[in-house]
Amino acid sequence: MSKYDLHCHSTRSDGLLKPRELVARASERGVTVLALTDHDDTGGLREASACAEAAGMQFVNGVEVSVTWADQTLHVVGLHVDPDHPALADGLARVRSGRQRRAEDMAAGLAQAGIPGTFEGASAYATNPALVGRTHFARFLAARGYARDVGAVFRRYLTAGRPGYVPHQWASLEEAVTWIRASGGIAVLAHPGRYRIGNLQREELLGCFSDLGGKGVEVVTGSHTPEQHITWGHYAQRFGLFASVGSDFHGPGESLRDLGSLPPLPEGCRPVWELF
Ligand code: AMP
Ligand code: MN
Ligand code: MN
Ligand code: MN
Repeated sequence: MSKYDLHCHSTRSDGLLKPRELVARASERGVTVLALTDHDDTGGLREASACAEAAGMQFVNGVEVSVTWADQTLHVVGLHVDPDHPALADGLARVRSGRQRRAEDMAAGLAQAGIPGTFEGASAYATNPALVGRTHFARFLAARGYARDVGAVFRRYLTAGRPGYVPHQWASLEEAVTWIRASGGIAVLAHPGRYRIGNLQREELLGCFSDLGGKGVEVVTGSHTPEQHITWGHYAQRFGLFASVGSDFHGPGESLRDLGSLPPLPEGCRPVWELF
């Protein structure tokens, strides 16, 4: 039987394991089809793909694109993308380029709140200097004892209204879907249950995403409760979207869900791998 995990992160973005370590862990945990979906960067795919092949696993080239839609940050996963396609590569390079300034602004906000040195501190936790994100700040601040753990740092310092939070303009939803499709990939709306939007806006988002050529939605993800698996399974069916499954694993001890540890899709969902 196949076991799918179509969303996870390596040290290329904000995961804790190198691509090869991630693949080894997925393989040990019985995953047979794995997508690596680092934030805004495809630099880990080559190593992961080679290791997956050696381990007899099927590998899917993936990416998780940061998007701003209706003043909210959303994430769109691309599956089976071609990382060398210029539209995707150039688009992701542009998204990454905004992160440096953002990280400096975050550090300035934290410095004003009495916490100096966080740009250097966070950068030391990042393997990819083009991809310093909130998770790296959180790991640094947690290690320095500013809060109990990474989740507590987010709540105290790194979410809207907090001193280390900087509003940021990511790619548009249209750009993200267009880049993914241009490169031959399948666009999947990531962890929809995490967005703070009401029912009406959910429908607007799904309609808009589908009109742009989005094909799937994560129904079973590490960020959803069992009730949300059912809710989003229904949304997927109503909007004619394929359902995806992904742990969103970032690292041992940090993520709620380990690689390959998710329940099956609810009845009636059409799995996104029908398109593979
Ligand atoms: P960024 O793209 O730099 O804004 O960072 C987004 C990442 O931060 C997400 O992909 C998660 O890995 C992490 N994250 C966001 N919110 C939380 C939270 N409440 N607790 C722990 N990690 C979070
Ligand atoms: Mn992340
Ligand atoms: Mn995400
Ligand atoms: Mn993710």
